[in-house]
Amino acid sequence: MKFEKSREFYERAKKSHAGGVGSSSRAPEKPHPLFFERAKGSKMYDVDGNEFIDYWLGYGPAIFGHAPDFLVDAVAASLQDGQAIAGQHEMEIKVSELIQRIVPCAELVRYANSGTEADQAAIRLARGYTGKNKFIKFEGHFHGWADSISYSHHPTLEEAGPRESPTPIPDAGGIGRGTADEIIILPWNDIDILRDTIERRGDEIAAILTESIMCNTNHIFPRPGYLEEMRRLCDENEIVLIFDEVITGFRVALGGAQELLGVTPDLATFGKAMAGGFAISMVAGKRDIMSQLEAGTVFHGGTLNSNMTSMAAVNAAINKLMENDGAIHKQLYATGAKLMEGLRRLGTKHEQPMLIQGPGPTFYLSFTEAEEITDYRSHVENVDEEKYQRFRLGMLERGIRLIPRGQWYVSAAHTDEDIEKTLAVADEVLATL
Ligand code: PMP
Repeated sequence: MKFEKSREFYERAKKSHAGGVGSSSRAPEKPHPLFFERAKGSKMYDVDGNEFIDYWLGYGPAIFGHAPDFLVDAVAASLQDGQAIAGQHEMEIKVSELIQRIVPCAELVRYANSGTEADQAAIRLARGYTGKNKFIKFEGHFHGWADSISYSHHPTLEEAGPRESPTPIPDAGGIGRGTADEIIILPWNDIDILRDTIERRGDEIAAILTESIMCNTNHIFPRPGYLEEMRRLCDENEIVLIFDEVITGFRVALGGAQELLGVTPDLATFGKAMAGGFAISMVAGKRDIMSQLEAGTVFHGGTLNSNMTSMAAVNAAINKLMENDGAIHKQLYATGAKLMEGLRRLGTKHEQPMLIQGPGPTFYLSFTEAEEITDYRSHVENVDEEKYQRFRLGMLERGIRLIPRGQWYVSAAHTDEDIEKTLAVADEVLATL
């Protein structure tokens, strides 16, 4: 496969468009960021005429595949009625009533446009509610690019500090220095360290912000009892428990990981899959915390919040996920399982030490001898990321598009034929490693 035209586009883009990409997360793509003409179903088509089966899926939103007809039609129909009206419309109520029924913590909801914004709103609500200022964030978790939260997503082990009390490491330059004083970084999945920290510092901690299943470093389930104990510690210490469900929401179950795992947070944030690719996010939670927005004691604004286009998309997306007794979720799990099992089989065949873990609708492939990865540091210590880069490039050159780290998203548009082709290509690439 050739990527020459993409390279030319990239060089041209850099002259007018900072970095040549729309998000810094897209910059590390090798051999260089690609340019696409269109995306439909499970496929993407680039400017060089290459076709890819896509498991990047826009970093998660394209849960139905790209440009699904039902979603395009619903949005097209709504466009005639207006887009950004900064006024209320019935679709907001319809969608919010649906969400109240399906998301366990959603007594009240509020919409925004990106996961980053929803997480900011959640932290603000927690501070307003408790009158406390600090919050706990875990190593390897990611909650968007805002200053308050851009810490310790992927610190080196040399800079990360002691395991029991890691140093907050800014993810990049330009982050306000004062924000480090507001954040307490901890290792995830270690209940003793969490308990000890809360015992000592609970009266300064407004919130625990956690991915419910850790999806931004490897894919790691909470240890049995971990989230339950976190829930209990929050209740006992007047700490607001916030689940970041931007990846897991609407993907691992209709009601998110909180439904799947049976632990209900006080607040939760959503984005990505909820509108199948349109810009929307949400903070949902307990009435007494969320109603600070009604009282006006906590402010949350946004010119484009609950705009008509995005709300039409969410409405169509959620109704689609509810059809036929959740048939799409069953399909996502089946597709994920086939891929995961197939890749494991190939790992054994080629004697490549591989670990494939995760719920299925999203999962993670690591090259590692470890039998299990349980937190950020065990990932960094055990996973051969350089080998994954070679694997990923081999897949790309043969028409399979994967996220540069080991995460795979699956969609309702992936067919058995796609899976067979993907596994045949993986067979070929693993033989070259
Ligand atoms: N939370 C999580 C768990 C995420 O994975 C992301 C994005 N990858 C965000 C928040 C930020 O969402 P957005 O990119 O829409 O701002």
